Amino acid sequence: MKTIVIIGGGFSGTMTAVNLARFARQPARVVMVNHRRPLGRGTAYGTRHPDHLLNVAARNMSALADQGDHFVNWLRCRGEYADLPEAELRETFVPRRVYGDYLRSLAFGYVQPIDERGRVVIEAYEDEAVDVESHHAGGLLVSLASGELLETDHVVLATGNQPPAPLAGLPEGFSHPCYVADPWSDWEPRLPAPTLDVVLLGTGLTMVDTLLTLLSRDWQGKIIAVSRSGMLPLAHFRGIEYRDFPPSGADALGLTALVASVEEHCGLLRGRGANPAIAIDRLRPHTQRIWKNFSLAEKQEFLCRYAARWNIARHRIAQPIHERMTKAIDEGRLRVVRGTVDGVEGCAGGVRVLLATDAGRDSLTAALAI
Ligand SMILES: Cc1cc2nc3c(=O)[nH]c(=O)nc-3n(C[C@H](O)[C@H](O)[C@H](O)COP(=O)(O)OP(=O)(O)OC[C@H]3O[C@@H](n4cnc5c(N)ncnc54)[C@H](O)[C@@H]3O)c2cc1C
Repeated sequence: MKTIVIIGGGFSGTMTAVNLARFARQPARVVMVNHRRPLGRGTAYGTRHPDHLLNVAARNMSALADQGDHFVNWLRCRGEYADLPEAELRETFVPRRVYGDYLRSLAFGYVQPIDERGRVVIEAYEDEAVDVESHHAGGLLVSLASGELLETDHVVLATGNQPPAPLAGLPEGFSHPCYVADPWSDWEPRLPAPTLDVVLLGTGLTMVDTLLTLLSRDWQGKIIAVSRSGMLPLAHFRGIEYRDFPPSGADALGLTALVASVEEHCGLLRGRGANPAIAIDRLRPHTQRIWKNFSLAEKQEFLCRYAARWNIARHRIAQPIHERMTKAIDEGRLRVVRGTVDGVEGCAGGVRVLLATDAGRDSLTAALAI
């Protein structure tokens, strides 16, 4: 019997194990090695905060490629969703922790089957894989932090989102009690009094999560979010059928022609009173091939000139979340600053975030920077 070790038990590792169990033609032993987060949840679905929602509607979140309604049907098993009208349920942006429950329940059915096991046996180890090397007998040897060694025929690396790299400009190994380097860590116990100011580094989806956490605590101090573009994620909307874009051969158009085509169709959509981000959505099935076909120079140009605009249109947030963010700005609770962070240093009462802005050098002082 073959052994397959999967390192990482977030979405990718969990669904690799589940799909092996569903589709393997021969008996196999699958060993999932996962640490830090509970099996199935990973970074994205490890949050316990009810305000942290999926950024994709339920109808598009089935984990099973061959069963598009699987997640919506699973939601029906939960009391809070059981009686929602079908159309409403499909469009709901559910809390990410509920999606973590879904992944865990999928894994659980195979790790602890009620009836006889199928061809594939799945075992789960809570441990860190620290090394993989060739084994003299021809297979591979996975070393775990606990000291245990796993002999295996195959290894799947599903190690996912790593903690953020240190900010450019910070001295190596910089740490400060008022600076949270990993926004996905458990930083709530480090929050200062809610009347004090907090600086958020970034203005994307993780900033929005952090903002929601602070607002749920009725934060009274200033919340200042800073990024190079100063752009905030756009809201989801009901789209229209639009089959005129992308043109055939879009995958190999190259950056300049593709941008021209996107801009043309954004204009046409605006002219129809529709949201131009529909053009970005229409590119979704093509993005991997487009990216592969770009030259290195095109990739660099995309990252410099277009990535910020692409991100806010492509990675949108649920409408109610967008409304809360906008309200926080209107009420003066959230301020967005455009600038490049080029340092963080300790100061009396907290940290000073150093910025390069269009107007020159600037700094923001906060009781906590995340
Ligand atoms: C905050 C956030 C929100 C997101 N929201 C959405 C969303 O709403 N919808 C959506 O489709 N996508 C969302 N995403 C994208 C999401 O990350 C991916 O869809 C997917 O969950 C990634 O799963 P993964 O298994 O590849 O990685 P991860 O979720 O990062 O899981 C990797 C796992 O491997 C473990 N691991 C790593 N190294 C080792 C090791 N050496 N030994 C043992 N275990 C190890 C980690 O501890 C972790 O548990 C979000 C991402 C983030 C960060």
